[in-house]
Amino acid sequence: MAEVILRHIAKAYDKGTNVIKDVNIDIKDREFVVLVGPSGCGKSTLLRMIAGLEEITDGDLLLDGQRINDLPPKDRDIAMVFQNYALYPHMTVYDNMAFGLKLRNMPKDEIRKRVMQAAKILDIENLIDRKPKDMSGGQRQRVAIGRAIVRNPKVFLFDEPLSNLDAKLRGQTRIELQKLHRELLTTMIYVTHDQIEAMTLGDRIVVLRSGDVMQFDTPLKLYNQP
Ligand code: ADP
Ligand code: ADP
Repeated sequence: MAEVILRHIAKAYDKGTNVIKDVNIDIKDREFVVLVGPSGCGKSTLLRMIAGLEEITDGDLLLDGQRINDLPPKDRDIAMVFQNYALYPHMTVYDNMAFGLKLRNMPKDEIRKRVMQAAKILDIENLIDRKPKDMSGGQRQRVAIGRAIVRNPKVFLFDEPLSNLDAKLRGQTRIELQKLHRELLTTMIYVTHDQIEAMTLGDRIVVLRSGDVMQFDTPLKLYNQP
């Protein structure tokens, strides 16, 4: 189970100015929800609050009914994939993927099992000893996704994961993300400003504007309005 509920969520970086106003979103178990909206509307802020990277000013964030506002990121069953991949340049692919698990003191055998399993899913087993600087953008993106997969999270967060890839690779990776969602059977929350990504990936789409939810509906209903 991985049901995410945002209840009256607000965020102010500076006192008195709410960049997220009063957001209410119910995300179902295994749902793929896409967040869209113009630059600066608060997509990243919302995602970072769910990840625990940004403090929630007001409201409740619930994961399977439990309030997790105050849990540190590493204790949330939530993993985030960043736009710029955020890999450690001096570490190999293996170590990049293993790092978070080592921090959690997981036994070496279990770490190895998880890393190799993720590498297999992403088809990067042959890159396991490489360093990020010796890899293409698409390969780095896979490692970034792998680092999320090894945590075995209930929820995946993606912040514009395809925006640094060229058009062809973006299309391929999009299809692979769809496959991944079916294989892993997890809840995914995905930020993009690409309408095609939103329509093809989203079970439902949240349209944000200036920190407010304008619409929350299926792609069919959103884009076929009279
Ligand atoms: P989006 O991801 O939709 O482009 P963001 O969540 O990055 O939007 O930003 C929403 C608003 O919050 C913008 O007005 C942005 O300038 C502001 N903002 C984002 N991060 C910070 C921060 N660390 N401090 C102050 N303001 C911020
Ligand atoms: P995005 O491409 O997701 O919209 P930005 O380029 O707007 O991200 O922001 C990059 C980083 O700078 C983020 O960590 C964001 O929180 C921070 N940031 C954005 N706007 C502001 C701001 N007005 N003041 C301080 N930090 C900000």
